[in-house]
Amino acid sequence: MIVARTVTEARAALRGLARPLGFVPTMGALHVGHLKLVEAAGSRCASVAASVFVNPAQFGRGEDFAAYPRDEVRDLRLMKEAGVAVVYAPEADEVYPDGFATVVHVGGTLAGSFEAAARPEHFDGVAVIVVKLLDVVQPDVLFLGEKDAQQLAVVRRLVRDLDLPVAVAGVPTWREPDGLAMSSRNSYLTPEQRAVAPGLFRALLAGAAVAASPGVTATEVVVAATRSLQSPGPAPASAGAAQPDDEPAESDAAGPPAPHLDLEYLAVVDADTFVSVEDIGPRSLLVAAARLGSTRLIDNLALAPPAAGEPHIPSPSSAYPTKDATVRTKGSP
Ligand code: AMP
Repeated sequence: MIVARTVTEARAALRGLARPLGFVPTMGALHVGHLKLVEAAGSRCASVAASVFVNPAQFGRGEDFAAYPRDEVRDLRLMKEAGVAVVYAPEADEVYPDGFATVVHVGGTLAGSFEAAARPEHFDGVAVIVVKLLDVVQPDVLFLGEKDAQQLAVVRRLVRDLDLPVAVAGVPTWREPDGLAMSSRNSYLTPEQRAVAPGLFRALLAGAAVAASPGVTATEVVVAATRSLQSPGPAPASAGAAQPDDEPAESDAAGPPAPHLDLEYLAVVDADTFVSVEDIGPRSLLVAAARLGSTRLIDNLALAPPAAGEPHIPSPSSAYPTKDATVRTKGSP
């Protein structure tokens, strides 16, 4: 595996790779979810390239850029073991030289709502790095996680609008056995916060279960998901570690209040435009963001409308991939 630090090194290393070439951009601090993207790329492409770059441009002021977990030695070892041929891991000044002044902005409905509203400038930072990385790597297929659904929609829009010669493949969200979507930021959670974190996905499942009935509206789905957040979850594995999701424990003199999920948004949107919808259709996504202490969690679940006469209730065993399931890739190059 070649580790390239500069644009010139990366272009030289990538030149001879067998095509089609799959590309997996990451910010490092790898978890199994990242490796599933590499696996999906390996199953569809003759070679795989990846990047490790904690992109300062996509962090807002006051966000966790400095604290973001970094472990390049481990990341490179995992990528090598996963079969990546070339990793582009530049320093920030290679990507953003002195005087850098270019803005890449995906406008329209994607720019004003949900993640874009919560994190102004975030998607401009994502868009500029994606354009730069695609230009350096020139892959045939770009693999992105469905976990970051609005990012996926922004990048699809960008690729389509600029006629970038790459196919975009979304890879299903990889989850911990209790349903929590894997994220590098999960490492910020205290054991007590970690115990309540799966409540966000449980809420999405509760919404999806309601959506499976014919004629149900988005409002009813959101109400069901919100109710789930407000009701106690299953008992935590470690005795006494967590309180019900909705009720911060009475803080007594002995300790801090129990953590709880503080909902930022919960909505049914169109997966391409992120416009809220009332009628549920094949492109409907239930999206949510919540704070758990100072950590922000996001998650989403596709709401497939039921086939006529066949309501489908997602169950934890069938609704999401965990460690033991096989990866399923969507879209084709
Ligand atoms: P990040 O390192 O957080 O920028 O993520 C790099 C890529 O991995 C992005 O395309 C993410 O959407 C994707 N990703 C992150 N977490 C997961 C997950 N749990 N399952 C699948 N893909 C993920």
